[in-house]
Amino acid sequence: MNFILFGPPGAGKGTQAKMLIDKFNIVQISTGNMLRDEVHSESELGKSAKSIMDRGDLVSDNIIIAMINKRIQMSDCNNGFILDGFPRTLNQAIELDGLLEDLNIKIDNVIQIEVDENLLLERINKRASENESIRNDDNSSILKNRIKVYKKDTVPVIDYYRNLKKLNTINGMQSIQKVSQDILNIL
Ligand code: ADP
Repeated sequence: MNFILFGPPGAGKGTQAKMLIDKFNIVQISTGNMLRDEVHSESELGKSAKSIMDRGDLVSDNIIIAMINKRIQMSDCNNGFILDGFPRTLNQAIELDGLLEDLNIKIDNVIQIEVDENLLLERINKRASENESIRNDDNSSILKNRIKVYKKDTVPVIDYYRNLKKLNTINGMQSIQKVSQDILNIL
């Protein structure tokens, strides 16, 4: 089973990805987490990505595509994967199509978790204030930029999958359990 999971910052993607990983014994490929690892290890890639991420802007497509290309060919992906936070631009989606075709891999399902913008801000502010998160980009002005970038660059990607009739939209403004149930129902 291979999935793509979409949702704006604070939509609960991480929680649902975890559920799917356990259920289907697959791996999560989060480009955000991969980039944060690079920043943490102070690699060249991490150094160039850090300021972009701290602003809530997008890292360049070339870097992201190269990362994904390497990652999906690793043996732990054989049983399936969830792409989380990728593709985030139309160009990334088109590059992904080419990559998957070369590797003879198919995406089984594209899931979009939809959440109202005010609720997102509330959730993220809560996450920041509870100090659960040590992410530099979890504050409200940067979050607003992340949402803006999401609308500008990522909503067209969602439309792309919708036009291909691959998209399933889930209401993210329900309990975690209900969202999980809705996702499992469409699979
Ligand atoms: P969010 O919680 O907003 O979904 P992520 O953890 O997925 O955030 O990503 C954090 C940051 O990493 C993004 O704001 C962006 O700077 C960078 N990033 C992650 N994935 C991508 C991608 N596919 N393309 C470009 N930049 C990315």
